[in-house]
Amino acid sequence: MKKLSISICLILIALSAVLFRPINAKATGSDFSAIFDADYYLTRYPDIAAASGGNKDVARVHFLNAGMREGRQGCASFDVRYYKAANPDLRAIFGENLESYYLHYMTFGKNEGRAGSSGDGSYPVLTASSNQIQVSVPSDGTGFLAGRTVILDPGHGGADPGCIRNGVFEKNINYPVALKVKALLEANGATVIMTRSDDSFVSLESRWTLANAHPEAIFVSIHVNAISGYPGISGMNAYCDSRNNPYSNALRLSLLNGATASTGAGNRGGDPNATIKVVHYSYIPAALIEIGFLSSTQEFTLLITDDYQNKVAAGITAGITDFYNNY
Ligand SMILES: [Zn+2]
Repeated sequence: MKKLSISICLILIALSAVLFRPINAKATGSDFSAIFDADYYLTRYPDIAAASGGNKDVARVHFLNAGMREGRQGCASFDVRYYKAANPDLRAIFGENLESYYLHYMTFGKNEGRAGSSGDGSYPVLTASSNQIQVSVPSDGTGFLAGRTVILDPGHGGADPGCIRNGVFEKNINYPVALKVKALLEANGATVIMTRSDDSFVSLESRWTLANAHPEAIFVSIHVNAISGYPGISGMNAYCDSRNNPYSNALRLSLLNGATASTGAGNRGGDPNATIKVVHYSYIPAALIEIGFLSSTQEFTLLITDDYQNKVAAGITAGITDFYNNY
């Protein structure tokens, strides 16, 4: 979603909330303070405090333009992740559009008596199989993934573009998707290490060396596939070498399940005993997911969009969470 259109979007979201308003709703009022308190926001998010110099107006603008979309908590009594998890009727309408949940609570939900948070930081638990991200306490180091370390490996970079179609480089899809996964993992308390933090060339050996230097971590490599002459082939594959680590195949399957569930992409399976170097030489739980085919007429148009990349990232995050749920 472009910032340019954010106001229009907010209006449309508010309108859709009106349309879907339950008949028995009580008198309403749009109480912005129900979802935002600048002092809380600046205290909770030191990155915003630093970037804004503590300016409350800047904090408010950030919340409206980015924070809501990112699922940041704007005040003590409203936690969008709780609200989304606790209200399946709203999920059926709003899906993954987090801004809608804030707007709904502010406009209707609070007056209807819906809880804005659990009060104790807990959440209803949703899993990858229910096509939702499992969420717990975000951003404060006490989340579900607290104590977990994930190495994210956006494939290619620098002089190595990966596959190319219509002027789009694979490396420029892998990286933003990895950043989105990083944000979601960190919101659930995980520590994230990136094999590259910009568009630079990083050798495969450096990547598996980094993996093997972190026995406490798991390794998730993100790529996009391509196959010449087959524009009709689409879907996701994932690979690992389970001979190196018995947990790698579970990670591979969790990633595939999570990412295909959140996107609707086809599950094309993949080899659990692959010799793809970056996973073949990693001895921690390691898997590589190909999030789609740049050569697919249909998937190309999806893979280049922010919306679809968000879905992929949510699915990968759900897969990682699912993996830790089970192992
Ligand atoms: Zn690749």
